[in-house]
Amino acid sequence: MNLTEAKKALKTFFGYDDFRPQQSEIIDAVYQQKDSLVLMPTGGGKSICFQIPAVTLKGTCVVISPLIALMKDQVEGLRSNGIQAAYMNSTLDTMELRAIENDLMLGKIKLLYVSPEKAVTQDFLTLMKSIEVNLIAIDEAHCISAWGHDFRPEYTQLKFLKKQFPNTPLMALTATADRLTRKDIEEQLTMQNPQRFIASFDRPNISLKVLPAQKRREQIIDFIQSRPNQSGIIYCLSRKNTENLSTKLNAEGIRATYYHAGMSSSMRSKVQEDFINDKVPVICATIAFGMGIDKSNVRWVIHYNLPKNIEGYYQEIGRAGRDGAKADTLLFYSYADVNILRDIINSNDAENAEIQLAKLDNMQQYAESLICRRKILMNYFSENMEGDCGNCDICKNPPQFFDGTIIAQKAMSAIFRTQQSVGMSMLIDILRGSKRKEILQKNYDKIKTYGVGAEYSQMDWQSFIQQLIQLGYIEIAYERYHCLQLTAAAKEVLFQNKKVELVKMTSILSRRTAKKEKKVTKRERIRNELFEELRQLRKQLAQKKGIPPYLIFSDATLEEMAATQPTTSEDLLNISGVGEKKLRDFGKVFLKQIQNYIVQQSQNGSRVKGATYLVTYNLYKKGLSVEEIVQERNLHETTIYSHLAYLFEKGEDVNIKQYFSNQELDLVQTHKHKSPKEIYESLNEDVPYHIIRLCLTYLDHV
Ligand code: ADP
Ligand code: ZN
Repeated sequence: MNLTEAKKALKTFFGYDDFRPQQSEIIDAVYQQKDSLVLMPTGGGKSICFQIPAVTLKGTCVVISPLIALMKDQVEGLRSNGIQAAYMNSTLDTMELRAIENDLMLGKIKLLYVSPEKAVTQDFLTLMKSIEVNLIAIDEAHCISAWGHDFRPEYTQLKFLKKQFPNTPLMALTATADRLTRKDIEEQLTMQNPQRFIASFDRPNISLKVLPAQKRREQIIDFIQSRPNQSGIIYCLSRKNTENLSTKLNAEGIRATYYHAGMSSSMRSKVQEDFINDKVPVICATIAFGMGIDKSNVRWVIHYNLPKNIEGYYQEIGRAGRDGAKADTLLFYSYADVNILRDIINSNDAENAEIQLAKLDNMQQYAESLICRRKILMNYFSENMEGDCGNCDICKNPPQFFDGTIIAQKAMSAIFRTQQSVGMSMLIDILRGSKRKEILQKNYDKIKTYGVGAEYSQMDWQSFIQQLIQLGYIEIAYERYHCLQLTAAAKEVLFQNKKVELVKMTSILSRRTAKKEKKVTKRERIRNELFEELRQLRKQLAQKKGIPPYLIFSDATLEEMAATQPTTSEDLLNISGVGEKKLRDFGKVFLKQIQNYIVQQSQNGSRVKGATYLVTYNLYKKGLSVEEIVQERNLHETTIYSHLAYLFEKGEDVNIKQYFSNQELDLVQTHKHKSPKEIYESLNEDVPYHIIRLCLTYLDHV
């Protein structure tokens, strides 16, 4: 088997033109009967790595996967692409199992998904021995390792695979495995000289953005309202918060619901199902939500609170944009959250508290970063990134520095004069000259720096003080009720006038408003409108078939349809994600929707690519004669014939044969090799020019 055939299968079954980085190398390793370890981020495209060998090689590929909920989804996805697949787990009854065994024996199943519990039974071994297994894929392979974060004891019994099937290639796949876990996977599975494939963990289609945690609700409402109908997740720290937020969103007319571990399992499944089926677009959830959800069209993820560490954050935002289409993320950051998380870690009294605090520090540094955020993330995962990403808030809106020495002196002096015994919000109130009771009681209104910073808002001050902490002039005394204190470096600023550079708050805020000001071009409007129509169509079809909408076509595929507006089957097949089975099953309805849209647009006076052919086509299909179409459209007869010839060429159902006689066709055929003009002359101008062209088109395509 070779890669040319693999690529052909990729197009035929999945509708994709090219492999992503590493995929072809991984597939080639299987063709060469080698064991392999595949490390790729969520959404990276791991499944293709075993699915293509499965469909191109003789026999069956056995996939061991711990996520029972996902098996059904994956099998449905494969079937909708015309691939014979089945799953075996505890949810099936004996009859169903028998039927699958039968199909297996008959060689009718290319991919068999099985739970680890089932895989380690004697029955299953017997079954495997009686069929031809071309590859064994172990998904979520980190579950084998006690080092990993999701240890599953059944996985450790999978050693038997290599012993029983020494000549069958083994592929272990995972999205999370540090060095020790990787080694553990290879050893425990007794893999033979495994080839290691470690893909980049970067997900360039996911945008990154951090905003100060102020007016979060209003900002979230704006955010969602500017993205109608998109699916998204809002992660909150507390269960209560998920409920409150969801209520608030509903009151604003946004369809949202909540999810947390305190709910009954049936309620949780319902929420998941509704989300997957695009019935409820927005879920306010604790981090309990998302595991085992394969929905590829999650378009955005918001963190209402700061996550505990970068690993968690990256995993959560990674649930967005698995289809490779553009996806947005937004993180709200505040010191208050840092303090809460710190307290939680400290009160847990865990032995690894120090590690957890260090991880929280990293998270905080990310949120406060003034350089490309993706660089920080990649760096954290020990990956080097050349250049800046261009898809984070810092890249899009580089910070503007200004001389903040006086601001710094005001803040530091206030800290000094209050004997380093106030926290951030009190300090800001003093600087801004607040008259609140506590300030007056403690006589803070009498100190020299009271009210000297009234020209800056509370938000400005918060940002300045955060920056001074980052710069190492101020620190938080966690052991003293989070009061602010000065560091040794502060002295140089206070007493020696050392210059301090700060970043303008406005440049941080303009990140917030930038989006709104963007004007939508006409082209974009058309794209959005058509996308929405196609999305609706997808939803209806999915409902009828009882499968999630993204299994019909991904958002990325619909977007490409909306952008390129294919009007023929041939054009549709060129779109990434449209394979042969999907073309057969859904091609006609989607084409019809696109054609209707184009015609409607051009009737509204818009010029849309390809519209003129379609308008003619529509009239033709209504049964109008060429003369009538000429009348209707006020175009020349030759033009209408050329449209019909074009449509015929593109494989549309146009009977051009009715426009010429057999005799004319014969005449043209005898001169076939000449140009139309030469034929016209050779036939003494007896046969009209447009008829000659029609005959030539016909002859070319039959
Ligand atoms: P993972 O299992 O690594 O999380 P998946 O295998 O589910 O990721 O793939 C994520 C998405 O990317 C799927 O929608 C899949 O169809 C798509 N995909 C995979 N390979 C390609 C490719 N070569 N070209 C285009 N899309 C691809
Ligand atoms: Zn960047």
